[in-house]
Amino acid sequence: MSTKIRAWAADKKGAPLRVFEYDAGPLGPEQVEIAVEHCGVCHSDVSMLDNEWGDTAYPFVAGHEIVGTIRAVGAQVKGRSAGERVGVGWFTGSCMHCRPCLAGDQNLCRSREQTIVGRHGGFAERVRAHWAWAFALPPALDAASAGPLFCGGITVFAPLLQNAIKPLDRVGVVGIGGLGHLALKFLRAWGCEVTAFTSTAAKHAEALALGAHHAVASTDKEALKKIRGTLDFIIVTVNVPLDWKAYLAALAPKGRLHFVGAVLEPVPVPVFSLMAPKVITGSGTGNPTQIAQMLEFCARHRIAPQVEHFPMARINEALEHLRAGKARYRVILDN
Ligand code: NAP
Ligand code: ZN
Repeated sequence: MSTKIRAWAADKKGAPLRVFEYDAGPLGPEQVEIAVEHCGVCHSDVSMLDNEWGDTAYPFVAGHEIVGTIRAVGAQVKGRSAGERVGVGWFTGSCMHCRPCLAGDQNLCRSREQTIVGRHGGFAERVRAHWAWAFALPPALDAASAGPLFCGGITVFAPLLQNAIKPLDRVGVVGIGGLGHLALKFLRAWGCEVTAFTSTAAKHAEALALGAHHAVASTDKEALKKIRGTLDFIIVTVNVPLDWKAYLAALAPKGRLHFVGAVLEPVPVPVFSLMAPKVITGSGTGNPTQIAQMLEFCARHRIAPQVEHFPMARINEALEHLRAGKARYRVILDN
């Protein structure tokens, strides 16, 4: 197989994506090469395309919600084989010998490889990953819609495990986009009482259909006041500053405000608001075991992302649709 890979790249911030070919070099001994069939578009792709986080290297190939079929395996690959259908998310490698890796926290490895940072991602015909970061797709899951589970999905699923969320908990989800809509589906199946916070009036009814018991306007001070002291856990998936004091006030004593959305502005925290007591935390994606658990959970509860498909060749149109806030709820590019 040629080591050249055809992809879609941006040459600079704001530039339309164009066909771009790069030489990936020899396949690493622990890597698999995957023919990309579908790739979701996460808001992090948009932030990286726009160099919002300051570490984008152009020409830049985004895409980290990948589903495809393994075409080649390196000599030391374990557990994966050619012909297998797999998913890949934000990470494509970890050292496997540092303390976090040995503890099962490979997503916290200091020398972890991120799919679209310093290398090229899944808006391409093929992509590579370490065998431990290519996850077998359970046959019960629909390959065409499963991609978003590998970034958006695990990012809102891992916090349920990390924070020992119980079926009796009352949980809020702030921002009903790619991550938020999956959080609603997971939490409903988990057994929780679920409140969706949205800034889009049309999404109130949609959020209830996705699994929420209640929908609240995320930017409405009065609406937030009415639910003071009621929620055990709030997961924030927006990337914009909101009235965080009001969200802390919406928590019940011992409640937790958990950030997964990349809000760039610092969060102001009056210490008195923490004395109930309350906790503010955050997390990034999840580890390989949590990803496998999420896939089992999705298969058992028949959970799939709600998606819209675009051919990869219409990638610029797909990005415009997403930037305009029209995505319901995740855009997937198909090869
Ligand atoms: P998305 O699909 O664009 O959804 C974000 C949602 O935020 C929107 O649907 C909207 O929901 C809400 N929102 C947007 N602008 C707003 C505004 N001005 N005021 C109030 N609400 C607003 O994005 P996503 O793919 O779910 O990603 C969400 C965030 O998570 C991004 O910052 C992304 O980079 C980050 N992320 C983090 C991780 C991690 O590991 N921690 C992983 C993946 C993504 P409503 O219409 O309901 O208000
Ligand atoms: Zn992502």
